[in-house]
Amino acid sequence: MIRFDKVYKRYGDTDVVEDFSLEIEKGEFFVLIGPSGSGKTTTLKMINQLIDLSDGTILIEDKRISDYDLQELRWNIGYVLQQIALFPNMTVEENILIVPEMKKWSKEDMKNRVTELLETVSLDPEKYRNRQVSELSGGEQQRIGVIRALAADPDVILMDEPFSALDPITRSNLQRDVVELQHKFKKTVVFVTHDMQEAINLGDRICVMNKGKIEQVGTAEEILKHPANDFVKEFLQTGLPHYKEEKTVQHLIEHNFFSTEGVLFTATIDSSASVNELILLLADHSSVKIINGDTTDEKIITRDHLVHYLASDLKADKEVTV
Ligand code: ADP
Repeated sequence: MIRFDKVYKRYGDTDVVEDFSLEIEKGEFFVLIGPSGSGKTTTLKMINQLIDLSDGTILIEDKRISDYDLQELRWNIGYVLQQIALFPNMTVEENILIVPEMKKWSKEDMKNRVTELLETVSLDPEKYRNRQVSELSGGEQQRIGVIRALAADPDVILMDEPFSALDPITRSNLQRDVVELQHKFKKTVVFVTHDMQEAINLGDRICVMNKGKIEQVGTAEEILKHPANDFVKEFLQTGLPHYKEEKTVQHLIEHNFFSTEGVLFTATIDSSASVNELILLLADHSSVKIINGDTTDEKIITRDHLVHYLASDLKADKEVTV
């Protein structure tokens, strides 16, 4: 568990992180989101002491980070950056094993670990382990960056916009990989992004930051349905194209965000109603049945459908199924 208690970071007389207090649970996928300059990276880097706190405390497993041996702290926290710092003239295996080598793992344990990690991100171990990093595509390099952060089995992984330089397809594949890795290895992940779709796809909880302060912390569902203030509402509207109220319930139907059976419902909504009305209704009901004027459709929209719809990247001419 990571606990921030009244944390401040000041440069000169400017607070770039201000009165930051929250707890990240063990095994949680926690996303920090906010506009550029809102203090996300600074917050992340204070966890592994790449940046010192000006005031307050951060505790990992109830021990102040300043009480850890710095090397021990860094070894126990994996770190993935946008421009991953792989060593281009070393092989994939050598890159993955940097921290295990320093920790003096046995040769056999290291070999097995590389095999296991490469398999988890669908890279054939025999084909990839001895390749030079410079021979890999951007997406492959980023996969290696992610598994390298996991190599020595750290409890915590920090990720700073790790996928923002990738094309959309590679990016969504890697997002899926990361969710699978997180479920498999049960790590605490703190993930920085400025992309609301990415935050919703990945986060167990999301912390919305603005000007160094916390605007809201909650699950995607809580934030979408009850934005804490105008800043969060506007951030959602800019970041999620379908959040805007011009769209109607019909738009979800057209793109297959509904079920036809097996779901109980306690409310109804007309297909011509706005998505915002649907958001409000689903705040009180876990699912709603769609009506079409006088006729009742056998279609039901659940909270899950709504969240996936809001996070989806629909193009007018593209069909999507969930
Ligand atoms: P984000 O990750 O949300 O884009 P950062 O945490 O990188 O934001 O930066 C937060 C603010 O702190 C920005 O206004 C940035 O200019 C400022 N800042 C970051 N590093 C320094 C520094 N070394 N000296 C002065 N200001 C800094």
